[in-house]
Amino acid sequence: MKVNLYLFFRALTGLSLIGLVYLGLTFHWIKLLYRPPNVLDSQGNFLPMAPWSAPIVREGSFDPKLIDEIYKKKNITIATTVFALGKYTQFLKDFLESAEQNYFVGFRVHYYVFTDLPEKIPAVKLGEDHHLTVLKVASSNRWQEISLRRMERMEELIESRLLNEADYVFSLDVDSKFYGRWGVESLGSLVGAIHPWYYKTHKEWFPYERRPESQAYISYSEGDYYYGGAVIGGLVKNVYQLAKTCREQLDIDAANSIEAAWQEESHLNKYFLYNKPSKLLSPEYLWDDRKPKTPEIKIIRFSQVYKNYHEIRPNP
Ligand code: UDP
Ligand code: MN
Repeated sequence: MKVNLYLFFRALTGLSLIGLVYLGLTFHWIKLLYRPPNVLDSQGNFLPMAPWSAPIVREGSFDPKLIDEIYKKKNITIATTVFALGKYTQFLKDFLESAEQNYFVGFRVHYYVFTDLPEKIPAVKLGEDHHLTVLKVASSNRWQEISLRRMERMEELIESRLLNEADYVFSLDVDSKFYGRWGVESLGSLVGAIHPWYYKTHKEWFPYERRPESQAYISYSEGDYYYGGAVIGGLVKNVYQLAKTCREQLDIDAANSIEAAWQEESHLNKYFLYNKPSKLLSPEYLWDDRKPKTPEIKIIRFSQVYKNYHEIRPNP
C-alpha cells in the first residue's frame, strides 16, 4: 500500500524519491513555522489557559462587573511604575490621560513616575483615589541602559516603599496608550503579557537570547511564550524577586561584557521560563499601533504607540 502511495505521488509530481523527501521536509518545516505556541486553538481562538493551568486573560474570559465586586471588598492598592527619561516624557500625557479613563477605574492606584526631567511631567487630573509620585533619577545616554535599569530601580522602589505601600505592582512602558478596560482581571501573583508580534510564531523563532555566554540564554528546544518587557506585574513580593533576579543576571552579563539581544526583556523571558507566570495577559493587553487588529483580538486595551526611534532615543 505504502509503495503504491509512493508510486502514486511520484507519478503525480514527477519527482524522484529524493525529491519527494525534500518536499515532505519542506512541508514539515512550514508546518512547524506556522504552528502557534500554545496560544490559539485549531479554530484560531485564544486558548483559555497555558499548559500549566495559568489563565490567559482575554475578552470573554471574565465578567467585569462580577470581578470588580469581588476585588472591591479587598481594599487593594495597585502601584504602577512608569519610566519617562529624556524625550520619552512626551508620551506621559497620553499615557496618563488614557490610563485615567481605563486603568483600574474605581480602585486605588499609585503611579511612580521615574524621570530625569521632573519639570516636563504634565499635570494630569487624576481620578478618585489615584495618586502620582515623581521620582528623579539620573539620565543616561543609552536607551538600552535606560530600559534595562528599570529592573534595578523597581527592585529599589519595592524594597524601600512598595512592600508597605501596595499589594500589586505593574511596570508599564510609557510609549503606550490605553484604548480599553484594564482592570482587576489582570491581577495575579505573577503576571506576564504575551508579545503581540510573536504569539503565532514557533518557539524556535522567538527572539530569545541564544548565546550561551549570556545569563539570559534559552536553548532552541526550550520556551513557552515570548513575553513582552513592556508589561510586568504581580504581587509586590513576587515582582521584587523577579526584578532582583533579572538585575543580578544583568549585572553578571555586564561584568562579562555581554548585553542580551533585547536587554531586560531577554532576562524576563528567562525568568518566566523557570518561574512560570500564574496569569498571562493576551496581546489585548499589549498590542502595537503599527500592527493591524487580527480576528482573534476582540478588543485592544493597551498598545505601544508609533514612535520615531531616531528622533526620540538618545542613541541609535
Ligand atoms: N525609556 C525612556 N527613555 C528612553 C528610552 C526608554 O524613558 O530614552 C523607557 C520608557 O519607559 C520606555 C521603556 O524604557 O517605554 C522601553 O523602551 P522602548 O519603549 O524604547 O523599547 P521598545 O518598546 O521600543 O522595545
Ligand atoms: Mn515601548
